[in-house]
Amino acid sequence: MSGATVSTDVVIIGAGPTGLFAAFQCSMLKMNCILVDALDEIGGQCVALYPEKPIYDIPACPAIEGGELIEKLSEQIEPFSVPRLLGRRVEGLTGSAGDFRLETSKGDVIHAKAVIIAAGAGAFGPNRPPLEGLEEYETTGAVRYSVRRKADFEGKSLVIAGGGDSAIDWALSLSRLARKIYLVHRRDKFRAAPESLSQLEDAIARGVVEKITPYQLKGLQGSDGKLTGVEVATLQGEVRTLEAEHLLAFFGLATDLGPIAQWGIDQTRSTIPVTPSSCQTSLPGVYAIGDIATYPGKLKLILQGFSEAAMAAHAIYAIVNPNQALHFEYSTSKGVPGSP
Ligand code: FAD
Repeated sequence: MSGATVSTDVVIIGAGPTGLFAAFQCSMLKMNCILVDALDEIGGQCVALYPEKPIYDIPACPAIEGGELIEKLSEQIEPFSVPRLLGRRVEGLTGSAGDFRLETSKGDVIHAKAVIIAAGAGAFGPNRPPLEGLEEYETTGAVRYSVRRKADFEGKSLVIAGGGDSAIDWALSLSRLARKIYLVHRRDKFRAAPESLSQLEDAIARGVVEKITPYQLKGLQGSDGKLTGVEVATLQGEVRTLEAEHLLAFFGLATDLGPIAQWGIDQTRSTIPVTPSSCQTSLPGVYAIGDIATYPGKLKLILQGFSEAAMAAHAIYAIVNPNQALHFEYSTSKGVPGSP
């Protein structure tokens, strides 16, 4: 569906973990909602960046992979049949509480009484290295910024670039199946959890990971999108070519609010300040939750986004039902459609 006109109580911008849980919370309060995401699939960072990595700090889940968490969140909203408009970015937002109008990049028009922005890092994208011919190798998957399927790298020679947690975690994880791993960083020291650093030292000592420091990426070698080598150089101009079929670059996420920055909502450093008790932004009727929301003491954790989703949905109830007091009820009392 594209170019559609739809009306709903609440539009949720972003179908990452917090947007999905906001759909559950709105539905439990009997408010209609619609999920919109710029990506073609739900899941936000969990699916786009680390579907096969276990998360250890989701309450009651000792370990759950990013992709599996999203499957469970999707299953949780299944009884409510929440419509999903995927593969389209919300570009425009006008109106006021009770009567908002949103436009998407595919020409849809959405009328909503309230808005929840669960857009994570906003215009979603990795920081890309400035290398000649990069796009050609991105298209074929020779150069990547996330690991969707570890099995893709079985028996392969890889260059992993970056000095933080992601680069080190993936170097350690993929060292179990790759043929060779070069870990390239522009400094001698890596910035990661002490436990990861000691595992890295061990992997280097055993020869399963080769540390290439202090080197920066310089160029890509190969043809027709097939990578054969990655050129790296020191600041003094000493150049080396590392034989590799893949380059995995972990230089962090580009945080840019994209069109959201133009909607007249207060913002600070690519995040949206909210009232902590309700998650309302500076624009009445518009709420922000998850990574994009900020307030004193904010932790960019999925579990905190879940709690923000519940607070925003309860605050929105008064906008959707102006003459009705909210009677607070536990889910154990309410149940979900189809529950006994
Ligand atoms: P996101 O997951 O970023 O989803 C936002 C969605 O909004 C995206 O799908 C994007 O496409 C969409 N969007 C943005 N702008 C628009 C627009 N204008 N129109 C339509 N759609 C839009 N957290 C933990 O709690 N525990 C962990 O162990 C953990 N490990 C992590 C490991 C890695 C490698 C990474 C990268 C992150 C990790 N995180 C972890 C952080 C966690 O993934 C984020 O806190 C979480 O994904 C934030 O969820 P969100 O729903 O706010 O945003």
